[in-house]
Amino acid sequence: MKLVFLGPPGAGKGTMATRLADHLTIPHISTGDIFRFNIKNQTELGKRVKAILDSGELVPDDLTIELVEDRLTKDDAKNGFILDGFPRTIPQAEALSKRESLDAVVNFELKDEEVIKRLSGRRVHPASGRTYHVLFSPPTVEGQDDETGEPLVQRDDDKEEAIANRLRVYRAQTEPLIAYYRDKGTLDDLDSAPAPDLVFTALKEVLRV
Ligand code: ADP
Ligand code: ADP
Repeated sequence: MKLVFLGPPGAGKGTMATRLADHLTIPHISTGDIFRFNIKNQTELGKRVKAILDSGELVPDDLTIELVEDRLTKDDAKNGFILDGFPRTIPQAEALSKRESLDAVVNFELKDEEVIKRLSGRRVHPASGRTYHVLFSPPTVEGQDDETGEPLVQRDDDKEEAIANRLRVYRAQTEPLIAYYRDKGTLDDLDSAPAPDLVFTALKEVLRV
């Protein structure tokens, strides 16, 4: 299955993509994770995008499109993938449509006040990308990754100043994709407010998997 997960930051796209990728045995491709991996390893790409990610703005389309096109040529993506966080602009969606025919675009819906709660409580294990929440999905030992015991961190862009900007950027640049995909008939809305297990069950029902 070739899937796109759309929705505001913090809606739960990454959490559900991890679970669904496991369920369907297809890769979970998160552009945010790819950028953060490059920043952590101080690659040329990482140096170019660090300040952009910290501010909550979007990385330029040409750079992002090239990165995703390259990733989609890998063998593991031939029979399906979950794109999480891409496309985020109309030009990105147009570029994707030239090479892939999507089975579904899932629109994760969540009110701003819930988005803010989820982002401000999010904690991550940088090496693996595993994601927790201080209240909704806490690790077994506070501040430590369940599998490695390594420290959890708060992403710089999950701090209060960046959150407001990310929501503005989402409204201005990404939300128009909802109408774009609805017009094409590939959009499935999903209420992301319930607890994770319930959202996951609803997601599988929507996709009939
Ligand atoms: P979240 O999961 O909170 O929505 P992501 O991890 O998807 O955030 O993205 C983090 C940041 O990476 C974005 O704020 C943006 O700077 C950059 N980014 C990720 N995907 C894209 C994209 N498709 N186009 C441009 N920038 C992107
Ligand atoms: P996104 O990839 O859309 O930015 P994440 O999957 O990283 O979102 O989730 C954002 C935060 O909300 C994380 O801390 C995650 O643990 C938490 N979370 C995800 N889904 C739910 C849910 N259904 N209910 C409560 N918290 C959730």
